[in-house]
Amino acid sequence: MAWDPLTDEQREIRDLVRTLARERIAPRAAEIDESHEFPWDVVELYREHELFGLLFDESYGGLGTGTLLVLVAIEEVSKVCATSGLILAVQELGSLGLKLAGTEEQKERWLPRLASGEWLGAYALTESGSGSDSAAMRTTATRDADHYVLNGSKRFITNAGVAQLYTVFAKTDPQAGHAGISAFVVEADTPGFEVTRVEPKMGIRGSTTGELVFEDAPIPRGNLLGAEGEGFKIAMRILDRSRPGVAAQGLGIAQGATDYALQYAKMRETMGVPIAQHQLVAGMLADMETKCEAARGLLYKFGRMVDEGAPDDELTKTSAQAKLFCTDTAMDVTTDAVQILGGYGYIQEYPLERMMRDAKITQIYEGTNQIQRLVIAREMLKESRAFLLAGVS
Ligand SMILES: Cc1cc2nc3c(=O)[nH]c(=O)nc-3n(C[C@H](O)[C@H](O)[C@H](O)COP(=O)(O)OP(=O)(O)OC[C@H]3O[C@@H](n4cnc5c(N)ncnc54)[C@H](O)[C@@H]3O)c2cc1C
Repeated sequence: MAWDPLTDEQREIRDLVRTLARERIAPRAAEIDESHEFPWDVVELYREHELFGLLFDESYGGLGTGTLLVLVAIEEVSKVCATSGLILAVQELGSLGLKLAGTEEQKERWLPRLASGEWLGAYALTESGSGSDSAAMRTTATRDADHYVLNGSKRFITNAGVAQLYTVFAKTDPQAGHAGISAFVVEADTPGFEVTRVEPKMGIRGSTTGELVFEDAPIPRGNLLGAEGEGFKIAMRILDRSRPGVAAQGLGIAQGATDYALQYAKMRETMGVPIAQHQLVAGMLADMETKCEAARGLLYKFGRMVDEGAPDDELTKTSAQAKLFCTDTAMDVTTDAVQILGGYGYIQEYPLERMMRDAKITQIYEGTNQIQRLVIAREMLKESRAFLLAGVS
């Protein structure tokens, strides 16, 4: 058997997810892309097989199997359908505010419904005028006797309209920059909260990406996550832990494209031989496989770090590296896979053009890859490697 970094228990769960992905999700992938419809049947499949439970501790109704396995599950599903992989990744993104900053009462109130998949979650940081520069947000939360009153809007929010629970960031002190931002749990039926548009887009077309509008929306004070003013820190801590979910999505797309191109290259003949035997094609396949394997090394390192209790400040760099490398790999590898299929790579009858479109978003959301490079460099600048300069004046 090939060397495998997973334990027997982890392998068993991965094999279950792999089987569901191949037998139940793969046959739906092209349809989900073409219809632009949110795949509730995939959510139902996850509910039936307790896959949302992978993301949660046993005390909140989850399986308590850890972060590495979450990443493996997203990777397995994304090999066949990136929209379906994203459903797991965003359930994590939408729950992390509660997991990291929620009180025991808040966790008990909401996490079990997310763990069973009865409710879907979402994370609402971006606004039309603030993406990378999230501190420039304009949504406000003003405190009155027993509520915060939310006013403003959020743009490009995954799961808009299908989520029941939104982690929303807003300014409680608009003059205080980062320190004026607070985080709230907002339920979908809050008066004054509406999803006003859903964007048609290049890829991950079955996933909803929408605009949220808040007009004097009353949020109970008990829905504040952490203390007032801690929202920006919470948003960044969430992203440190959620970006690897996007990395896993990217890696899954890349490995799925590599596997498809390999099979195709063994069958398709030109000049009397399978194209895999042309050295220029073989070289592309070798590069694709190697990039996937290197990306997996970084991604699984992150999963192990979390599972072994690495402190938060040590996660930032590895999280950004995994996101950067896995998703750049997704774009490179899917572009090469389309090339290997020639004209067939470009047409909709084959899945590679979809994979290439799906890959692109992974370089953009949860912090663009330019931002990941800034984060990695900032972390590097905190490290000392002065011994190399010993004796240099
Ligand atoms: C399909 C989709 C789903 C999304 N889902 C969510 C979601 O669920 N929740 C959520 O909150 N947001 C979500 N987003 C928003 C996404 O995270 C932002 O679009 C992304 O962070 C970039 O922000 P922006 O679009 O405002 O681009 P900008 O910040 O305007 O950036 C434009 C360009 O400038 C570059 N740039 C910006 N600043 C710098 C800098 N300092 N140095 C170098 N380059 C820089 C960027 O890398 C980019 O190339 C989603 C977006 C999409 C398209």
